[in-house]
Amino acid sequence: MNSPLPAFAAVVVAAGSGTRAGGAKQWRLLGGKPVVRWSVEALLKAGAQDVVVVVSAGSEAEAAEALHGLTGWRAVTGGAARTDSVKAGLTALGGPDDRPVLVHDAARPFLSAAVIARCIAALDQADGALPARPVADSLRRASPDGIVSGAVEREALWRAQTPQAFSLKTLTDAFAAWPADETATDEATVVERAGGRVKIVEGDARLMKLTYPEDFDMAEALIPRTVRIGQGYDVHRWGPGESVWLCGLEIPHDQTLIGHSDADAGLHALTDAILGAIGEGDIGDHFPPTDDKWKGAPSDLFLKHAAGLVTARGGRISNVDVTLICERPKVKPHRQAMRERLAEILDIPLDAVSVKATTSEGLGFTGRGEGLAAQAVATVELPSR
Ligand code: MG
Repeated sequence: MNSPLPAFAAVVVAAGSGTRAGGAKQWRLLGGKPVVRWSVEALLKAGAQDVVVVVSAGSEAEAAEALHGLTGWRAVTGGAARTDSVKAGLTALGGPDDRPVLVHDAARPFLSAAVIARCIAALDQADGALPARPVADSLRRASPDGIVSGAVEREALWRAQTPQAFSLKTLTDAFAAWPADETATDEATVVERAGGRVKIVEGDARLMKLTYPEDFDMAEALIPRTVRIGQGYDVHRWGPGESVWLCGLEIPHDQTLIGHSDADAGLHALTDAILGAIGEGDIGDHFPPTDDKWKGAPSDLFLKHAAGLVTARGGRISNVDVTLICERPKVKPHRQAMRERLAEILDIPLDAVSVKATTSEGLGFTGRGEGLAAQAVATVELPSR
């Protein structure tokens, strides 16, 4: 957009119980972010001066958590029907009669600045703006038992989306005239019934409404992601013992690795690789060796923590590759079990996990049997910012 948008406000309807989506979908995570947060962020970024999020009674804390850290929004308790919720939002907003107000479904997360701009611009030409998509599929009428009984002309039909835009007074007056015993599917219907002209503007295919559980899979697939790579390296010294922990497995051996935790160099290198991929420092930042809490700790705890940070960012681990460098013990007999253990800890497919081993031909500290070294690489997909 070249010119800035005129001042506008927004009502985001997040009061649904979401029975068809299997739970209140507006609070569910999509790409690591609550569904409602996607559109509230989009509205604030586009310059909305006041965003009222209408929630059902008792959901105020969920809204506060979902929108934590954002400024320029507030929660308002809605009513039983959508009409009541939007009216409550408008009352809370207030402002001059000609204030543009966008009413948006929280369940449509992928709201673009372009759609917002088109809606507001259309208010120069009509009493309301309705983003919509043409109907691409042919339409059929069918009997309740699924037998087709004729086609429906799709020429003049549109799939309505949100946000729908009106001036504050237009929408408030239209609601005042709306029959109390009727329910309206959307605000354009209310304004149209009151005699207003509502103009269709170009919607967005990505502005889909999350309705059914499978819609979330489709929405996740629509989120642009960036591939990130991290690497890690770790060394532990050999000392007296009877077994050694490597890649989450305890292997009988005539020595052990010395360390503050269980000294599993494979898991430490891999934990650092994952932390590296997401720019979250290193294992020592998260689990300081000076803290007695981690004395003798099983290192799968560290790896799980790193994987959890990826999940919290809406990311996923694509693959990991660990190389153990030592003369002894022989790693090969344990490789498959190590891969299985890593796949289990990280909750990723087995073919996304590689464990390799090499000697250093008798050279260096690993060759002399003074210590074991481990290297790891991890690739992670994170939602693009
Ligand atoms: Mg270590």
